[in-house]
Amino acid sequence: MSSYDVIVIGSGPGGYVCAIRCAQLGLKTACVEGRETLGGTCLNIGCIPSKALLHASHMLHEAEHNFEKMGLKGGAPKVDWKAMLAYKSDVIGQNTKGIEFLFKKNKVDWLKGWGSIPEPGKVKVGDAVHAAKHIVVATGSDSTSIPGVTVDEKIVVSSTGALELGKIPKKMVVIGAGVIGLEMGSVYARLGAEVTVVEFLDKVTPGMDGEVQKVFQRTLSKQGLTFIMGAAVQKVETTKTKAKVTYKLRKDDSEATLDADTVLVATGRKPYTDGLGLEALGVAMSERGQVKTDAHWATNVSGIYAIGDAIAGPMLAHKAEDEGMAVAETIAGQKGHVNYGVIPGVIYTHPEVASVGKTEEELKDEGRGFKVGKFSFMGNGRAKANFAGDGFVKILADKTTDRILGAHIIGPMAGDLIHEICVAMEFGAAAEDLARTCHAHPTYSEAVREAALACGDGPIHS
Ligand code: NAD
Repeated sequence: MSSYDVIVIGSGPGGYVCAIRCAQLGLKTACVEGRETLGGTCLNIGCIPSKALLHASHMLHEAEHNFEKMGLKGGAPKVDWKAMLAYKSDVIGQNTKGIEFLFKKNKVDWLKGWGSIPEPGKVKVGDAVHAAKHIVVATGSDSTSIPGVTVDEKIVVSSTGALELGKIPKKMVVIGAGVIGLEMGSVYARLGAEVTVVEFLDKVTPGMDGEVQKVFQRTLSKQGLTFIMGAAVQKVETTKTKAKVTYKLRKDDSEATLDADTVLVATGRKPYTDGLGLEALGVAMSERGQVKTDAHWATNVSGIYAIGDAIAGPMLAHKAEDEGMAVAETIAGQKGHVNYGVIPGVIYTHPEVASVGKTEEELKDEGRGFKVGKFSFMGNGRAKANFAGDGFVKILADKTTDRILGAHIIGPMAGDLIHEICVAMEFGAAAEDLARTCHAHPTYSEAVREAALACGDGPIHS
């Protein structure tokens, strides 16, 4: 029986980062992974492959819509779907092999197989039982469906099947206007599918700043996505090649149907802890199937910790990574910490959408005095040159102290721009601090500075 200081179960962004940090802090560490490649959902069937398809389809969109305007003639390229999928697989391979390399470099053992915890201090992988002073559950999440809808990963697909379709569908119905639905819906709309999104609520991407929600939906509609809002999908019936989606409008209970070649079910994910044996160990779980932890990611069973999608909080790879590093530091006797108030969220459509901190709606609910500084990308020279003037940066700052409380961006490179504001918020900065920081010209980042200026004496370029 081999014995370790730490065994991490799961090699997604939470697990592999945790394992590497544990090893860097001098702890003898192993990571259990049953997939043939490391990296979990994010690298194999989530963030990374979807970004490859988003990038390729965005390039096509640019060629179709903007190339001629820049004097680039010759027409848009044809789509070779098989080659695009091969590009996506190559990107996955490069990333997953990268983690393998990092494990070797940091002397993290990869225990290949599916792990379970037969008793505290032990992890079983296949027939082997390993001892561990500390066990970190980082087993992530799995997609869920809704009553009346069975995912077959052929006609009715989850986010996993949506990355591997045999061909580009002519008609696609997306159930759920959350992050997955809109990212993958965008991909197939750009590739020529007629995409209809059916959403239960009246607004897209629940929890996002209301103004961004409105502009985001409008922008995607302009790109050809059709939205049926306030509609609950009741059932999906399939033949060998087609599907019929029945939904009910919440306002008047009327029912209608949609035909599709492919239906993407994007109605959320649930924590994945199957087969670990947590119930038998008496590990406390929430009603939603999340492992309950204290502020230091410890469960109620001594020596067992949990992080990432398996516990409460936003199901985001970077939230899991931060928890992975922090729990490693905690186990090593340091003071691991995650600032849950400054976790950015990004949607990788075009334009991108990014947010951090409080929304305007949350601040109103809290009754907090705040001011809004807004700047449109139309006033940004770089954005205009790049046909990227749609969208805006919005900064919310405390009315009295000017401290930044939140920021919401829809526009070019929003997912990168948001981090300037994250750093500012980590340092407790005021909007004026951003406004007085010199920003290179011409960059998209100037729009962030202008929004910060808009919290004070006003922006220059609007
Ligand atoms: P989600 O929770 O973001 O959105 C699901 C949507 O489905 C909601 O708007 C909900 O109202 C709707 N819905 C539920 N039941 C319905 C019904 N019967 N009919 C119509 N609509 C219905 O879920 P998701 O998009 O599946 O994403 C899952 C998780 O993965 C999220 O936590 C998300 O943050 C995460 N994720 C993040 C990224 C990213 O950060 N870029 C990418 C992919 C996934």
